[in-house]
Amino acid sequence: MSFSSADAQSLMEITARPPMYFVRGEGSWLTDDTGKRYLDCIQGWAVNCLGHCPPQLVKALNDQAATLINPSPAFFNEPSTALAKRLTDASCFDRVFFTNSGAEANEGVIKLARKWGQKNKGGAYKIITFNHSFHGRTLATMSASGKAGWDTKFAPQVEGFPKAELNDLASVKALIDDQTVAVMLEPVQGEGGVIPADMAFMKALRELTRENNMLLIVDEVQTGMGRCGELFAYQAYGIEPDIMSLGKGIGSGIPLAAMLAREEVACFEHGDQGGTYNGNPLITAGGVAVFDALTAPGFMESVRLRSEQLSQGLLALSEKWGMKGERGMGLLRALILDKDDGPAIVDAARDRGPEGMLLNAPRPNLLRFMTALNITEDEVKLMLAWLDEVIAKVRS
Ligand code: PMP
Repeated sequence: MSFSSADAQSLMEITARPPMYFVRGEGSWLTDDTGKRYLDCIQGWAVNCLGHCPPQLVKALNDQAATLINPSPAFFNEPSTALAKRLTDASCFDRVFFTNSGAEANEGVIKLARKWGQKNKGGAYKIITFNHSFHGRTLATMSASGKAGWDTKFAPQVEGFPKAELNDLASVKALIDDQTVAVMLEPVQGEGGVIPADMAFMKALRELTRENNMLLIVDEVQTGMGRCGELFAYQAYGIEPDIMSLGKGIGSGIPLAAMLAREEVACFEHGDQGGTYNGNPLITAGGVAVFDALTAPGFMESVRLRSEQLSQGLLALSEKWGMKGERGMGLLRALILDKDDGPAIVDAARDRGPEGMLLNAPRPNLLRFMTALNITEDEVKLMLAWLDEVIAKVRS
């Protein structure tokens, strides 16, 4: 099949898409309709933790599709209970609710915190979030997000999301009043530019929220499921949050996300939450296959090795080109440029031949890397070599 941009006129124009059409994926590689191959360092925006079309996921989906696709969310099914059990056994949480997207999980998280506030804190409902944070594109999650300009888009916002500065405890304290029910943050701000919460800040937030009878919520849609070198990024901070959202990597490319809560906090009553596809066995069977791959012996160790390799390689490139270093956690990393040529580097990497490379510049002076977690040592080497070549081309 071959595509033309005229075919795409029927799609809503929601983002500037480059004129290429992918028809096939395998591991860290994508192929377009002309047969050109691309080394994919984006992986659907940190989604495909096992790369494209991982055999375990393909098999699990095929087997489940031939067995039972949709009994109804009103009944138990085996894959969703199996996945919920695995997630609670591996985390500090006791209860799981599956959703179809990260934004939908965060909507549920916001509702759960408000419900808890009604039951335990005299109707407190405000959730302190952070400047530059990203929690989704539904109305409440856009209101919770700290993206510049979003406070006036689609006004009026959903009320009750005062914004603090990441890694500045005083700015959080200043916002707390008797209506405050929770603090919600990404352990590493992903869309905001790969900015990790400091260790001391995260620990202090845990103490502060406990002292003030408030909940600590982590949005691990981007950081969870091995992305940051632990199964969940909060584990690297040695804290236990009250609520967590997951997305992206939990399904490695299929529409699966989740919200998790401790027993005392999981206070939804019948009818409070639900939806047609929540906990759908087809999708959660895929989630079980992904979870088992991530938790197989040696898998997380290899994520940490690739992360170290990428981090050192980016640092070497930064030194060579007079850039401003690199940062991140696990395989969510950024190269900080000394000028605003990120978009030019992204374009040149895509257009290089005979094989291209897919990169992302969330800001003009920053390149973000979110490779498959099972990327090989040789692929990381290739990626660093091509990056060097493309920077040389753009800067010549
Ligand atoms: N939270 C975070 C931290 C995210 O990075 C994203 C997606 N970029 C979302 C929520 C929204 O997830 P989804 O696109 O699945 O709605």
